[in-house]
Amino acid sequence: MRATLIAGNWKMNGSLQSVIQLVEGIKTGDVGTAQLAVCPPAIYLMKVGGMLEGSQVSLGAQNVCDQASGAFTGEVSGGMLKEAGCRYAIVGHSERRALYVESDELVAARFAMAIESGLIPILCIGETLQEREDGITESVVARQLDAVIDTQGAAALGNCVIAYEPVWAIGTGKVATPEQAQAVHAFIRGKIAALDTAVADKLQILYGGSMNPGNAGELLSQPDIDGGLIGGAALKAEDFLAIAQAA
Ligand code: PEP
Repeated sequence: MRATLIAGNWKMNGSLQSVIQLVEGIKTGDVGTAQLAVCPPAIYLMKVGGMLEGSQVSLGAQNVCDQASGAFTGEVSGGMLKEAGCRYAIVGHSERRALYVESDELVAARFAMAIESGLIPILCIGETLQEREDGITESVVARQLDAVIDTQGAAALGNCVIAYEPVWAIGTGKVATPEQAQAVHAFIRGKIAALDTAVADKLQILYGGSMNPGNAGELLSQPDIDGGLIGGAALKAEDFLAIAQAA
């Protein structure tokens, strides 16, 4: 039986004051039985990490550098994220892939550095609307997964979380139907099971893309959906907690 993980990706939102309020709201609310994590902007990681100490909520980063240290202006290393108290690091979010041109290879290198630093990567994969309409959803997610498997081996997926996030559902209010999401989750698990059944059985595969308190229950009841990566709805403590309770 896999635990359910609900992770909030706050993206580049908020201010010091609003972030403090959000953490207070989450900490003092009913967090239910799901595993919870929040991924604030990097500048707030230390502050949020301190506030979450002793709570059931884990800390995650929104990205991690593929290098350990050195002349990489603007990047944050895995070691620094560990020091800040992070348990997770998102890698390969579609906004990073599309807006900052992060290739499958770079995402795989970031994944590797997360593992080497003792972080659990949350590897985001998913197709664009055009790719879905072209009927190539499975080959797109397979290619994104293979970039990691080919360099790290299937066993490395034993230390990660995968987030299936159809790009057309992110921040659009257009959620995948439970059947659409389940079909891709089952494909992902099946692909990994063909390489390593034990890894596939225990792998948490999250759905991401306009999940909210109204649609979370049905999505999370699918057999291969083990949680959610939440953007917009994670910015309100009550909505984030309502999703956690729906789990
Ligand atoms: C995301 O950015 O990972 C995401 C799922 O966003 P939203 O929930 O806002 O669609």
